Amino acid sequence: MADIRKEIEKRRTFAIISHPDAGKTTLTEKFLLYGGAINLAGSVKGKATARHAVSDWMEIEKERGISVTSSVLQFNYDNYCINILDTPGHQDFSEDTYRTLMAADSAVMVIDGSKGVEAQTRKLFKVCVMRHIPIFTFINKMDRDAMDTFELLDDIEKELGIATCPINWPIGSGKEFKGVYDRESQKIHVFSDTEKGTKEGEDLVLSMDEADGVLLEGQKEKLMDEIDLLDGASAEFDQEMVDKGELSPVFFGSALTNFGVEIFLKHFLKMTTSPLPRKADVGMVDPMEDSFSGFIFKIQANMNKAHRDRIAFMRICSGKFEAGMEVLHVQDGKKIRLSQPQQMMAQDRKIVDEAYAGDIIGLFDPGIFSIGDTVCMPNHKVQYEGIPTFAPEHFARVRQIDTMKRKQFVKGIEQIAQEGAIQIFQEYNTGMEEIIVGVVGVLQFDVLKYRLENEYNVEIRLENLPYEHIRWIENEQIDMDKISGTSDMKKIRDLKGRPLLLWVNSWSIGMTLDRNEGLILSEFGR
Ligand code: GDP
Repeated sequence: MADIRKEIEKRRTFAIISHPDAGKTTLTEKFLLYGGAINLAGSVKGKATARHAVSDWMEIEKERGISVTSSVLQFNYDNYCINILDTPGHQDFSEDTYRTLMAADSAVMVIDGSKGVEAQTRKLFKVCVMRHIPIFTFINKMDRDAMDTFELLDDIEKELGIATCPINWPIGSGKEFKGVYDRESQKIHVFSDTEKGTKEGEDLVLSMDEADGVLLEGQKEKLMDEIDLLDGASAEFDQEMVDKGELSPVFFGSALTNFGVEIFLKHFLKMTTSPLPRKADVGMVDPMEDSFSGFIFKIQANMNKAHRDRIAFMRICSGKFEAGMEVLHVQDGKKIRLSQPQQMMAQDRKIVDEAYAGDIIGLFDPGIFSIGDTVCMPNHKVQYEGIPTFAPEHFARVRQIDTMKRKQFVKGIEQIAQEGAIQIFQEYNTGMEEIIVGVVGVLQFDVLKYRLENEYNVEIRLENLPYEHIRWIENEQIDMDKISGTSDMKKIRDLKGRPLLLWVNSWSIGMTLDRNEGLILSEFGR
C-alpha cells in the first residue's frame, strides 16, 4: 500500500490552456525536454508531422495539419510523474477541450505577453473557475516587446476576475529582455540566449548588487521601483487561495528561447496539487483509497479505420489500475475486463500494465462507454458526478440528401452525438423530422459531414442558423407553451428531452427572463 501512496503522491495532472499561438505547444515541448522524454524540442509538433503520431486518425486532421482532439502526455521530472492534458491549439476547438479540463487537477494558462488575455483564454478560464482548480499563469514571449507588466496583470485581474501574485518579475522585454527577478530569493536570473532546442544555457543567478553592468542602463532602477510598487500593491502569495483557484501565481519567460521555463516548472510542481479527491454518490473519493476507480471524460472514435474502434479516455481517480483486471462499468451494471489499455507517452502510444490515480489511460471501447461513465471495482461501487454538457456556440439545421437513408442518418448522427463531438436538438414539440446540430467549434460541422459520409454512407446538407446563445431550462416542469420570449428566440429539446432556449442576440436572454417570472436558465446541461 505504501508504494501505491508514493506513486500517487508524485503525480501531477494538469491541462495547458491558451489562445492559439500563445505558445502552448512550445512550452509543452520544453517541459518534455526537461523530462528527457524527447531529445530535441521541436519534435512534439512541427504542426503537420509529429503530432499526428499521437492522434493520427482522421483525414481532416491531416489535410489541415491540426489536431482535432486533445491528447495526453506523460513524463517524469525531478521525482514527479507528470500528466499533461493538451487541448487543441486551433480556433475551432470543440467540447472536448472543455471536458479535458474535467480530468485535470490544475491548469496552466499561457498568455502572450504582447497580447494579454484573448478570447479563447477567457472561455477556457471560465471552465477552470467552475471547477475551482488552481490556475497558474505563464506569460510567454518576453523576448518580444511585451505590454507593460502592471498592465498585463491588471488585464488578467479585470478580464478574468482572479487575483494575481507574480512569483517573478521580468526585466525588460523584446531585445532588452534581460531575465527575471525572483521575489522570494530576491535574486536576478539572467537570461542568456540558449541554443534553440536544448535545455543547456546558463542560468546565471545574481544578487541585486552584482547586477550592475549586466543589466542595461536604468533597468535596475526601474526594477527596484517596480518591486517597491509591487510589494505594496499586489496580493501576497497564499497557497490556500491558490488551491481554491482564487489566486493565480504568475511567471514570466520565453518558451521559444527556453528562458524561465525550468524556473516555472520547479515552482509550479511544488505549488500545484497531487491528485485531488473527486465527488461521487458516496461522497468524496480519496485518490489514496486502494480500490481502483475512474471516469470516462472523452471518447475518440474510429482511430483505426480498419477496426472502427473507439478509444475511451479514462482519468483514474483512486487506487491502482492493473491490466487485465475485472472491473464494473457502473452505468451498464456489467463486469468487464480491461485488457490492452493504452497510454500516450510523448509521441508514442504504448500498452500499459499499471497506472495510478491521476493517470489518464485510453481504453479500447467496443461502443459501451459514454462520456461521464464510472468504472470501479465490483466489490466497491462508486459513481462519479457526470460531466456537464457545455453550451454550443454555432447551430445548423441538418438534412440528409437521400431521404431513403433516414435510418442510417439518424443512427449515425445519434452515435456521433453520444461520443460528444456534437449536440443534437429538435423542435420542442415535434419529433426527429427537424434536427438541429449545435457545436462548440465550427470545425465540428466538417467533422460531422465527413464522418457521416465516410462511416455511415450518408450525405447531408447543413444550413447555418443565426443562433448564438443557448440556455438549458433548469426548472424543467415549466410549461414550454407558456414561455413568452423575444422574436429571435427558438424553443428546442436535447437528446435527453431537456428543454432549452436559443437566441440570436445576447440581450434577448435578459428580456426573456424579465418576461417569465420564475424561469431559471443555465449555461451548462447537468
Ligand atoms: P500554440 O498555438 O499555443 O500551441 O502556440 P505554438 O507553441 O505553436 O507557438 C506559436 C508561434 O509562436 C510559433 O511560431 C512559435 O515558434 C512562437 N513562439 C512560441 N513561444 C515563443 C516565445 O517565447 N517567443 C517568441 N518570439 N515566439 C514564440
